[in-house]
Amino acid sequence: MTELRVRIAPSPTGPVHVGTAYQALFDLVLAKKHGGKFVMRIEDTDQTRSRPEYEEQIFKALRWMGLDWDEGPDVGGPYGPYRQSERTEIYREHAKQLVEGGHAYPCFCTSERLDVLRKEQMQNKTKLGYDGHCRDLSAEEVAEKLAEGLDHVIRLKMPQEGTCIVKDRFRGEIALDYAQVDDQVLIKTDGFPTYHMAVVVDDHLMKISHVIRGEEWIMSMPKHLVLYEAYGWEPPEYMHLSLLLNPDGSKMSKRRNPTSVEYYRRAGYSPQALRNYLALMAYPPVGEEDMFSFEQLVEDFDPDKINLGGSIFDMEKLNWLNGRYLREDRSPGQLLEDLKGWLVNDEHFAQMLPFLQQRMETLGDFMPQVAFFFARKVDPQAEDLVPKKREAEEIPPMLQTAIWALDEVLDWQKEGIEAALRGVAEYWEWPVRDVTVPLIAALTGEKVGPPLFESAALLGQDMTRMRLIDAMNVLGGLSKKKAAKLEKGWKAKR
Ligand code: GLU
Repeated sequence: MTELRVRIAPSPTGPVHVGTAYQALFDLVLAKKHGGKFVMRIEDTDQTRSRPEYEEQIFKALRWMGLDWDEGPDVGGPYGPYRQSERTEIYREHAKQLVEGGHAYPCFCTSERLDVLRKEQMQNKTKLGYDGHCRDLSAEEVAEKLAEGLDHVIRLKMPQEGTCIVKDRFRGEIALDYAQVDDQVLIKTDGFPTYHMAVVVDDHLMKISHVIRGEEWIMSMPKHLVLYEAYGWEPPEYMHLSLLLNPDGSKMSKRRNPTSVEYYRRAGYSPQALRNYLALMAYPPVGEEDMFSFEQLVEDFDPDKINLGGSIFDMEKLNWLNGRYLREDRSPGQLLEDLKGWLVNDEHFAQMLPFLQQRMETLGDFMPQVAFFFARKVDPQAEDLVPKKREAEEIPPMLQTAIWALDEVLDWQKEGIEAALRGVAEYWEWPVRDVTVPLIAALTGEKVGPPLFESAALLGQDMTRMRLIDAMNVLGGLSKKKAAKLEKGWKAKR
């Protein structure tokens, strides 16, 4: 039998979502169960959104969770490079083959034409998508346009009728109409591949035998299968996991719940407990017990037992499970080591001292002032969140814009944080103090605290965001409608 090979293919475009860890967990379980290999591939083909900082965060977050890979950009391996931005030649070469074989074609439509087309389709309520304008250009026409040096993309020729049968290990056969799928761009004008092109070429060249990913990709399967067919390659076996959901059944998003792995690390969760909890999102308790180890899961694993009912990520239950790990899985000595490895260590204290030294009369003043750095949550009082001369209802919208501004900070240091928050004050035309006062209360839970920008830097981006959300809720929150309106204004003014 050929070797079992699975991969995770995250895009480095933001903080690492727990959904990525959830997927990596099942990848690793499958690999371990069959003595296979787990590959890390960085899908950084979106040049405008990909950042090396986020790639670092992916490595750090998944390693913290104990979900290590056998091959990847940072560890090497026989099928590299493992970063898609370093493989563009390979995709162009493969796209060329498709064009030569009549499976793909160059498309010269301008973005203006596509905009008009889209507007018309929306107005007439007809099917959205590319209309095949360049699909049947003659060889001479193509040669002429190429000679003129016109910008173009390469599009996949999709069948225009018939049904695509998608085989999913968890779901059986899913029938999707080809007519619903338009001619997908494979290579963009900048010469970079789209996800669909790169994923198929790489899964094949990297000899991936099983693909585990979120169910949101099922709809892309016809494009992928048409590509496999065009190349004459055998597709891997697909397994689409159900998505993680908020308690109200909506897709888990950072608007309400902390979604980044880094938040859970910073808030002091145990990686074992988080892993266990994520396993329960798609797998029944092993041996009737909610609490089980990774090794037990590997031992027990059977794809037929995967449940697809939608997986509600319930913080209360995670907290309960995490508590069990601390009580039942750790000796006091181990807990002490956990605390040191987490934040109770010299390195962390040393980062606080520069700005606390001026604020102490005795050493005994240190701990009370820094307690909020270690807290899972703080408890700000409504009156501390509202600066003098401001109304309570003015604060949640301001906090929301602060969240957006801070989300954009790439290098999470004092300078970037300060610039972002000054931008917020400018946006509202408020004195900076009216922004910083509520933020200090939100982050520390107290009326006064150590310097704000330094404190936020040390708390980390994800913990900062969560505390701002909590503070908004103390003041009654912000309705979806109001948030949407605010976002328009915010985006327009920037
Ligand atoms: N880059 C895609 C993502 O970030 C990968 C999807 C896949 O696994 O095929 O989810």
